[in-house]
Amino acid sequence: MKFSNWGTSIRDESGITTLMKDLSCCPSSDDQTIYMLGGGAPSRIPEVEQFFRKQMQNLLDRSQEFNDLVGDYGGPQGLPQFVDSLASLLNNEYGWNLGPENIALTNGSQMAFTLLFKILAGKFPNGSHKQVLMPVSPEYIGYSDTGEDRPLFRSHRPRIEELPNNMFKYRVDFNNLAVTKEIGAICISIPTNPSGNVLSNDEIQQLSDIADRHEIPLIIDSAYGLPFPGLVYKDVTPIWNENIILVLSLSKLGCPGGRTGIIIANPEVIEMVACTNAVLTLATGNFGAALVEKSIETGEILPLCRDVIYPHYKQLAQQATKTVHEHFSDVPYRLHSVEGAFFLWLWFPGLPITSLELYRRLKDRGVIIVPGNYFFYGLEDKDWAHANECIRVSYAQEPEIFSKGAEIIAEEVRNAYYGDQLKAVANA
Ligand code: PLP
Repeated sequence: MKFSNWGTSIRDESGITTLMKDLSCCPSSDDQTIYMLGGGAPSRIPEVEQFFRKQMQNLLDRSQEFNDLVGDYGGPQGLPQFVDSLASLLNNEYGWNLGPENIALTNGSQMAFTLLFKILAGKFPNGSHKQVLMPVSPEYIGYSDTGEDRPLFRSHRPRIEELPNNMFKYRVDFNNLAVTKEIGAICISIPTNPSGNVLSNDEIQQLSDIADRHEIPLIIDSAYGLPFPGLVYKDVTPIWNENIILVLSLSKLGCPGGRTGIIIANPEVIEMVACTNAVLTLATGNFGAALVEKSIETGEILPLCRDVIYPHYKQLAQQATKTVHEHFSDVPYRLHSVEGAFFLWLWFPGLPITSLELYRRLKDRGVIIVPGNYFFYGLEDKDWAHANECIRVSYAQEPEIFSKGAEIIAEEVRNAYYGDQLKAVANA
């Protein structure tokens, strides 16, 4: 069968497809164990699972509501009672002034980005072609293959700040951030997937001011951030204004199966999203939203995040960081400052093999990671060595799995740095 350009590019190049397929990776032999440090699946936290079961039971008990949920199409903006409750919750928490005209739901936030990039970038009626600007590369792998009008993204190299104890941190390089007339929107994930970077309030405000000056929106992807699931290990406050498009998700909270993405924006954008929802999916699925709606109305969702989900990941983050420092002490590694989400981002300066080759070697040994190269799309400088020297590992699984996986990664990295030299010495 012949496929379109878009179909072909998705089949041949997509990092997100590989990542999602790897999530169900099976052992290649009976005695192989899989150490799943790839993907973005959240932890299975018993209290959270119990919370969702209770919500489902309550929903079943409200029989008319349940029948409506199953028997009707929702509107293209998403479940109205969820939209109302969320507007109230955000207004109470952050003093915003949102109404239902500021919120639309999508089938997962991945779909939210696909729609937003479609309406804000690509070909315009006046014949121009607009791109989405990523102020910090590396940026979320899942954006890169959305959209047909490529190149859809322009990414910027960050400043790399070296920190004590083999740590480093990406900083937005504001001096070189070029917002030209080809830019239709700025987009950043906070915390950033893959690096776990969290921009300070000042940096976010600066980005927002730049977007305002150029009359383009600033899209903030808060899939891991505030208010839920709230995996931010630094003191920051979410901001929103009419020019910010804030995107939330129920997935990292523990409900990826609900496929609920949330867009908070000015009414013009929300109307566009509702139209694209209608065209592409008729209506958004209601189940994820219905499952958490009451806990949003009562505010119960916030203590669940603050008292259960946040401490769970914070502890895993501390443990994983310690494990990495122990296992990698004899190779030239750097670890990105651990500020949010549930990934560690490792950089091996001067690594003699690409991160893609490292991924393949690790996969042969049952350790699934995500090679860093996929996160560096849209860069002008295609030869930046750094883009082939990083990997992302998730610490959302049990610490024992992480530790064993990290041990094997360290062995393979050691092999890559020193294996050939050692073989040469042995053969001499
Ligand atoms: N944004 C970021 C930064 C992500 O990591 C993910 C998923 O891993 C998404 C958005 C999309 O998530 P979902 O479609 O499950 O809401």
